[in-house]
Amino acid sequence: MKITNVRAHVLEAKLSQPFAYSRAWYSTRTAMLVEIETDQGLTGWGECYGPARINAAVVESMKPLLIGQDALRSEFLWHEIYARFRDHGQKGVVIQGLSGVDIALWDLKGKYLSQPIHRLMGGPLRTGVDAYATGLYRRETGDPESYLAEEAAKYRAEGFRAVKLKVGFGIEEDERMVRAVRAAIGPGTALMVDANHAYDAVAAIALGRRIEAFDIFWLEEPVPPEDIAGHRAVKSALRIPIASGECEFTRFGFREIFAAHAVDIVQPDTCAAGGLSECKKIADMAAAHFIRYAPHVWGTGIALAAALQLLAVLPAWTPPSLNPIAPMLEFDRTEHPIRQAILATPIEHQNGTVAVPNTPGLGIEIDRNALAWFRAT
Ligand code: CA
Repeated sequence: MKITNVRAHVLEAKLSQPFAYSRAWYSTRTAMLVEIETDQGLTGWGECYGPARINAAVVESMKPLLIGQDALRSEFLWHEIYARFRDHGQKGVVIQGLSGVDIALWDLKGKYLSQPIHRLMGGPLRTGVDAYATGLYRRETGDPESYLAEEAAKYRAEGFRAVKLKVGFGIEEDERMVRAVRAAIGPGTALMVDANHAYDAVAAIALGRRIEAFDIFWLEEPVPPEDIAGHRAVKSALRIPIASGECEFTRFGFREIFAAHAVDIVQPDTCAAGGLSECKKIADMAAAHFIRYAPHVWGTGIALAAALQLLAVLPAWTPPSLNPIAPMLEFDRTEHPIRQAILATPIEHQNGTVAVPNTPGLGIEIDRNALAWFRAT
């Protein structure tokens, strides 16, 4: 099956109202989808997490290396492209571009062999994945203590057993919001907090000490991704588990995190850290270091499907037992007009659990009308 064309689709949608995390406001959502065509009439889809227009330029630059190649040689093509760009991009947008290409090649492999990707990666350990609700961002108006509590209670009512709150707005304010959200969801729902690396180790430890009493499931990106020693300092100072990794790339980048035992949970983004091929390797490294793996997901239905295919084959966080703790899916609940619109059948949760798509490839079908509708100008 020869590759005949590679397309980069840059999509954009305005939000009905902006929302903020610790470092910036969002007023639009963008997406960069990769489409790979073959001489067998099959088409594979992938997605890149990152700045859409730069990701598109990267994928366009990779196109000459892909045209005419055997689409089933995904491992060979990963190494060829990585080696060709290595001198200029061991991390960041180059690897994000490669991730989208790799996911599209796995989608093609599955379609060619009439199997969902997880069957080709070892077969399912589970058919559904527990999701945690990512939301609880800041709005332009209203009292955050009350609207965050209300939003968190809504997720709980929908069946989510875990929710993630944005922190990084100042230690006192963070503590007030954590208290309000914990009160709204009660003791039975897991609560994660995410600072999006707005703090240094000193501030992150100070925050952690103030919120330890609220039973925090993990503290995410307490410090900048480059600060591995800072992660380790935060981890050893607190009783709260530390998560990080959405800004790290490839087995080589994660090797440093694992070797330092800098975190309790790693969060590679399948659409950024190197695609399904690379994330499976990173997951195996995580298992070898007894570090939990929880994929970061911040994209469209393609990103969700890719994460689900991987989650289907990951070992439980705890060793095989009567009640192992299974890895969780990050399920973004914020406004994203493109997320489900590009799918012929949306990926939804049932009582906080998301089924792993089990039709060939990623297990999704793309609605081309939606692509045209959201195309960036
Ligand atoms: Ca995050």
